[in-house]
Amino acid sequence: MKNDERKVALITGGSRGIGRAISKRLSKMGMAVVINYAKDIQSAEELAAEINKKGGEALAIKADVSKIEQIGELFDTVISRFGRLDILVNNAGIATYKRIEEFSEEEYDRMFNINVKGLFFCCKEAARQMADGGSIINIGSTVTRVMMPNYGGYAATKGAVEQITKVLAKELGNRNIRVNTVSPGPVDTILFRQGKSEEQIDHLAQMAALGRIGCVDDIADMVGVLVDEKSRWVTGQNILVNGGFAA
Ligand code: NAD
Repeated sequence: MKNDERKVALITGGSRGIGRAISKRLSKMGMAVVINYAKDIQSAEELAAEINKKGGEALAIKADVSKIEQIGELFDTVISRFGRLDILVNNAGIATYKRIEEFSEEEYDRMFNINVKGLFFCCKEAARQMADGGSIINIGSTVTRVMMPNYGGYAATKGAVEQITKVLAKELGNRNIRVNTVSPGPVDTILFRQGKSEEQIDHLAQMAALGRIGCVDDIADMVGVLVDEKSRWVTGQNILVNGGFAA
């Protein structure tokens, strides 16, 4: 594939967990991938090197998505380096699990600043700079479909993500840019395991119709399907990818 034909994908929080699997998946589909990371330069650079060694094209760029000026720099670097942006996967996210009565203002602000404000302003930059015919995937969560104690703040951020997706899909449809939410159920990552016992994890696995916790490739494969041309008529949707954990 000639370099100027290669689609360019930006994955926020793309060096670890679900984001890492998405970076690899989109690279396998022939895209140049920009792996955004917040702090862990080593994982991001190692992943970029691994992809480049296999004949793909990857670049790691540091940016804290809760900082609007850093989002601007991130997108400007993508455009100046590759000349275009075709796919944005808003994957960066954190979770604070606690009862609403225990939340501090600082904890609330931090989670909303990354999960909602960061995603919103990445969507804004994509709306301004993405090529016509592009695709935006916002990573939500199945927690908006269940009533789980300790997930109040986190579920609120992901509810906002679903709404941003729907409105943006309408706003960008005339440029044939599709916008969808992918909402994973429990997926085995550092973020998921924090503060959970093996017993709790087993219990959550049994809540899924398919009787297991998801793996990162379960989610990355769906992102691959959604950004593909075969999904050209799918936009504004929330796709639950959770093994039947909730509907
Ligand atoms: P993870 O903690 O392994 O990965 C999250 C990534 O986001 C990390 O690379 C982290 O560095 C990055 N990140 C965090 N803050 C950032 C910031 N300010 N700027 C840039 N990057 C930042 O978690 P994961 O489980 O892979 O989660 C990925 C996404 O999937 C999140 O949006 C999460 O809410 C969502 N999700 C996860 C699960 C699950 O069970 N693992 C379920 C539903 C939804």
